[in-house]
Amino acid sequence: MASDTDDEPGSRAAPGPNATNAASGPAADTSGLAADREALRELARRVAEREIAPGAAGFDEAEEFAEPSLEALRRAELFAVTVGEDYGGMGLGDIEAAIVLEEIARVDVSSAILCQLVYNGPPRAIEHLGNEAMRRRWLPRAAAGELFCIGITEPDAGSAATSMRARLVSDGSGWRLEAYKNYVTGGHRAIACLVWCRFPGSEAGTGKGIGAVVVDLAAPGVSVAGTHRKMGLRGCTEAELAFDGVRVEPEDVLVAGDPSDNSGLKTLLAHINHERCGNAAMCLGAAQGALEYAVAYMRDRQIGPRRLADLQGLQWKIADMATELEAARLLLGRALALAGPHGTPPPLESAMAKLACNLAAKHVCDEAIQLLGGYGYSREYSLERAYRDVRGLCIGAGTVEIQRNFIGTAILAGRSPEGSAWKEALR
Ligand SMILES: Cc1cc2nc3c(=O)[nH]c(=O)nc-3n(C[C@H](O)[C@H](O)[C@H](O)COP(=O)(O)OP(=O)(O)OC[C@H]3O[C@@H](n4cnc5c(N)ncnc54)[C@H](O)[C@@H]3O)c2cc1C
Repeated sequence: MASDTDDEPGSRAAPGPNATNAASGPAADTSGLAADREALRELARRVAEREIAPGAAGFDEAEEFAEPSLEALRRAELFAVTVGEDYGGMGLGDIEAAIVLEEIARVDVSSAILCQLVYNGPPRAIEHLGNEAMRRRWLPRAAAGELFCIGITEPDAGSAATSMRARLVSDGSGWRLEAYKNYVTGGHRAIACLVWCRFPGSEAGTGKGIGAVVVDLAAPGVSVAGTHRKMGLRGCTEAELAFDGVRVEPEDVLVAGDPSDNSGLKTLLAHINHERCGNAAMCLGAAQGALEYAVAYMRDRQIGPRRLADLQGLQWKIADMATELEAARLLLGRALALAGPHGTPPPLESAMAKLACNLAAKHVCDEAIQLLGGYGYSREYSLERAYRDVRGLCIGAGTVEIQRNFIGTAILAGRSPEGSAWKEALR
């Protein structure tokens, strides 16, 4: 299945009947697919509103891991969505993942991230790129709601993964892992970490020889060196993980790094498109929640003889917010539809979707705060939390600037997104 990640956008299956509104809700179709997706959305919304929303402000305020959200999502069996049926999951794809992420993020992004770690993190990579023993070992636990984490970033290697120092040192039939990873979301609660690292012979400062291994976090030599104190996403901790001589067996290798080329890194980067689309879906959810909140408030709030909703200058804000959000949603829907049920979203369309959803969400949440005036700025209302959470999503999974770099380079090299009208003009 590794070849999935190497496909060019044009080689994907044509978008299905739900292509353009994949993340926003299913269109009518005759297959029952739309009804299934709507049922999934309703389930996720119910869990979000009844079981997650009431505690969300408390986790944020106390900067505590959202343990009750984890339990609620487990009870609803929502972690099983993307895990293959052979391993105890539902075997669904990126569209369904986005539906759940959007609904949970609509009330709390920290809790949605728990799903993101399973849907678009290591378990999906294990299923697509790993060996059968690895799948049997880890995927049933993912479907049951045990958390996984991913260690790419290091103190001196963030946007430039090629600066990473994490390395495997040969030791008999296997290796020892020496690494220090920071900003590992859920790292202190996860059972396993997908660690990007250099294989023996890898050249420092280049992508050559970079691959990835799956490490059992209960293994000797693994320690949680600390956690980051953050502006937002405070219900979901980012940890610093140290790996001191941790034993790695050949069956723990997800993607082998070949010191003569950067093929391992390319495969890993292509697979990150799942995470980018999941990040985008969470942005949509948070912004949707903020927009709905602002609209309800404006209908209610009287300024002298008039409601806020009657002021045209404010109506224009709502018009811009709703339009930006819908445009971003359409871009995400395209990337998801191009992935097909079991593929990987293509790079250019995923980067555009992440960029648009990050920017739209930041603006929509910011404007929603403005529309509530002083109340928007108060911690008693949920809007400032949504804004702080979305701010973090603009940095994780490849920053806004890195998406722009990728999109700009691709367009200038003559590539264009699927279905674009100006394709011929650039060639
Ligand atoms: C909430 C959150 C969760 C995270 N979760 C994880 C996780 O689970 N696992 C993990 O490995 N990492 C995680 N990260 C880390 C994240 O991936 C990095 O923070 C991100 O890649 C940026 O790296 P950096 O922080 O080192 O910034 P730097 O790479 O130092 O970048 C600093 C600034 O310069 C910009 N910049 C850098 N290079 C360029 C360039 N070539 N052109 C233009 N601008 C550039 C960046 O966009 C940024 O604005 C998370 C981060 C956050 C905030």
